Amino acid sequence: MPEESRQFIHGVFLAELQDWIGQAGEKKFRAKQIWHWLYHRQVEAWEEMRNIPKTLRDRLAESFVFQALEKLEVQDSNTGTRKILSRLSDGELIEEVLIPAPNRRTVCISSQVGCMYGCAFCASGQLGVKRNLLAGEIVGEVLAAQKEYGDRLTNIVFMGIGEPFDNYDEVMRAIRIINDPDGFCLGARRITLSTCGVVPGIQRLENEGLQVELSVSLHAPVDDLRDKLMPVNGSWSLEELMDVCRHYTAVTKRIITFEYTMIRDVNDTEELGRQLVGLLRRFPCRVNLIPLSEIDEYEGKTSRPERVDLFQRLLEDEGINVTVRRSKGTDVNAACGQLRSRSIKNSE
Ligand code: SF4
Repeated sequence: MPEESRQFIHGVFLAELQDWIGQAGEKKFRAKQIWHWLYHRQVEAWEEMRNIPKTLRDRLAESFVFQALEKLEVQDSNTGTRKILSRLSDGELIEEVLIPAPNRRTVCISSQVGCMYGCAFCASGQLGVKRNLLAGEIVGEVLAAQKEYGDRLTNIVFMGIGEPFDNYDEVMRAIRIINDPDGFCLGARRITLSTCGVVPGIQRLENEGLQVELSVSLHAPVDDLRDKLMPVNGSWSLEELMDVCRHYTAVTKRIITFEYTMIRDVNDTEELGRQLVGLLRRFPCRVNLIPLSEIDEYEGKTSRPERVDLFQRLLEDEGINVTVRRSKGTDVNAACGQLRSRSIKNSE
């Protein structure tokens, strides 16, 4: 964890700041003024909060600190996607991916330093997990992404490094600050949480009362193959996962998106396509087919376009809504972690 004993100010709820200010003997309305500077003006230092008395700013600086992500490397793809490798205050590395589209400025953010789930085709999972991100660091990623765009973010997806449900409390805290009308003020429906299938996390999310989007990585329609591709399947089988997803949809009335990374001759045969259809039949959901982003650490190749078309047709024939993430130069799900992985290996 960061050695800094002060709390990241971007991980503090407005009500908590009001309490702190009240206990410091100051007027509580100062808290809203401070939040205005943090999330509307997006200042990066206490001195910039011009209507806050210097004595209060000094006291705040003794207890709270700004998260400053240090941008180390930028990698642009020819489709406009931008990957950024950043260093946290304790030296750990994370990645964000900016994915611009007409009228959409999306950022894919990390929730952990590394990931313990070791999916076969993912660079992030190959190095294990170092630590969870704090809410202030997650909000810091969002603010840094908006600064990078130079324009208002429209969408946030937790599909970067890490499994968000393994860092449940800090991720939820960050989402509430991002969603707060006095905070970053981004609608919950514009925030997508992506899980590899951590069943307890889906069960907890069901009761949060948040309108966030949920995306579940499937990548195989049968247990023996999913076991090989995603070790998480050993903890929660497909049957358990689908049961909890059905329950989630019934309770929240929200549609889940299933992600299916397509790997040539591994999970893209016609038979597996039909098994996928069987798994999702009569389940109100969306499917996102993602041709694999090839990485050095995994020998799998991306599916041929005709296989992707076949899967799309099989699913659509069953009335299932399908989108295909045609190559964006970067597949945020599979390829995230490559910059970090390479940087760590180079420093060894
Ligand atoms: S795909 Fe997601 S869950 Fe799997 S190892 Fe990578 S970061 Fe972790």
